[in-house]
Parts: sequence; C-alpha cells; structure tokens
Amino acid sequence: DHATAPVAQLNGVSHLALASTTTVLDVGGVSKTFQLNGKPLNVLSDFSLQVVKGEFISIVGSSGCGKSTLLRLIAGLDTVYDGSIAWLSSTVVGPSLDRGLIFQEHRLFPWLTVRENVALALESSGLTPDEVKTRVTHQIELVGLSGFANAYPHQISGGMSQRVAIARALVLKPRLLLLDEPFGALDALTRLKMQQELQRLWETEGTTSILVTHDVEEAVFLGDRVVVMEANPGRIKRVVEVDLPRPRHRTSAEFQRIKD
Ligand code: ADP
Ligand code: MG
Repeated sequence: DHATAPVAQLNGVSHLALASTTTVLDVGGVSKTFQLNGKPLNVLSDFSLQVVKGEFISIVGSSGCGKSTLLRLIAGLDTVYDGSIAWLSSTVVGPSLDRGLIFQEHRLFPWLTVRENVALALESSGLTPDEVKTRVTHQIELVGLSGFANAYPHQISGGMSQRVAIARALVLKPRLLLLDEPFGALDALTRLKMQQELQRLWETEGTTSILVTHDVEEAVFLGDRVVVMEANPGRIKRVVEVDLPRPRHRTSAEFQRIKD
C-alpha cells in the first residue's frame, strides 16, 4: 500500500540517475510504542524506508504523527522500538557524529559565541586546534555569518541562530543529515533564504538528508522523494517521487523580487 506516484516528468536528468544506488539507510518495519500514564501509545507502525546515498527525503504529515520520534530513532537517541534501523549496514545502537540532527529549536549555548558554538561540536573530533579553526571559519562563511563569528546568540536574529545550528551540524561533515522542521520558527523570507542555502549546500556536499516539514511546498522544493505520513499510529500513506531538475527555483517572479 506504499503507492509511488510521479508528480511530474520533465526532461531534466535527476542527479539520482547518475548517483549510486547504494542503500545507506534501511528502516525496516519500525514500530514504536510509548507508555503514557500507564497506557501504551502506539506512535509508529510498520514504517519502512530505504534511502540511497546522496538522496534527499522529505517527510510530511500532521502534527503528532510520529515524525520527530522517527528522526530520534534514526539518530540513535532512542533505541527502544520494534523492527530494524541500519545505517551503512550496521544496526543503529546509539548516536554518532556520522548522523547529525538539527532540531526545530536551535538550542545554542547562550554563553558561547557563534564561533564557539560551532567549534564545540568538534571538541572530541581529534582535530588539531588549527584544523578546528579552519573548518569552523569555513563553515561559518558557508552559512553567511562571517561578520558575526564573535557575536553571542542574543545579539543575532532567530534566523541567524538557526543558521548557526545548521553550521554546527554541518561542521562535523555528517554523512546523514536529519532536519526536524528546521525552518518552522522562521519568518517567510528568512525561511526562503535558508531553503535555498540548504539546497546549495546539498548540491555541493551531496549529503544524504531527511527533512521533516509541515510545509508541502518546501518538501517538494528540496526533496527527491516526499514521504507522506498518516497519523494514529504514524505510518506511510504514500511516497511521491519528485522528478524536477535541479537546481529548483521558485516560480513566482514576485517572490524572487521580494527575496532579493
Ligand atoms: P510529530 O513530530 O510528528 O509532531 P512526535 O513524534 O513528536 O510527532 O510525537 C508523536 C506522538 O508521540 C505524540 O502523540 C506525542 O505526544 C507522543 N510522544 C512523543 N514523545 C513521547 C514520550 N517521550 N513519551 C510519551 N509520548 C510521547
Ligand atoms: Mg515533531
């Protein structure tokens, strides 16, 4: 019942046609039940998804359908579930620097500067201080915050903080990027800029990514496949392949003008 429906067939060759078809993430029949006030609450039921290297998956579904729960399981932050989750053919048994998770709230440390917040992630990486410095500087540049490296979180906007959070996840060069409604709290214009930035980063790095969003337009703009979930318990309703060439552009000229 996991129907696959192409939304559009255009001339552009999908990058996936050229990329490898190695499955890097294999989620097999995952079910999750919480205990809530002594009663079982079945949140995910028989969720299966195979993700190939370099693929960008978007997941949409109503609030409470289990999207964050699923990402936490894939990240290894919760290891109690039925079914199987394998990353690079090994069962996920806990968190790893290989799999970066960006939460809806950015959770920066208020007493650390932008640079220090990003560098913190590399503390136990084994890199020399010079290597850390080079990598952090480069990453801060990539998210367009070079002028704010020494600012504290309260001195920058919400959108900028979210970019710091993204830099903090990307600086580790994770091979899997998990994004849990990363732009949900941003205003429309910042959101658009961040989506384009993410698309650009994704095009240069080609990081396998899973984005949870309640914004269907965003899901289609960024994803190679859009997984539509239904609730109670959360399961896959359908998977839509987005067959649009990259880079994708917003169609509305007004939107482009406003954004610039
Ligand atoms: P989504 O991210 O799709 O909005 P969540 O994965 O956050 O949904 O939550 C799915 C369901 O699981 C909700 O009903 C939520 O209340 C419940 N839930 C999430 N975490 C816990 C927990 N630690 N204990 C009990 N119930 C939880
Ligand atoms: Mg959520």
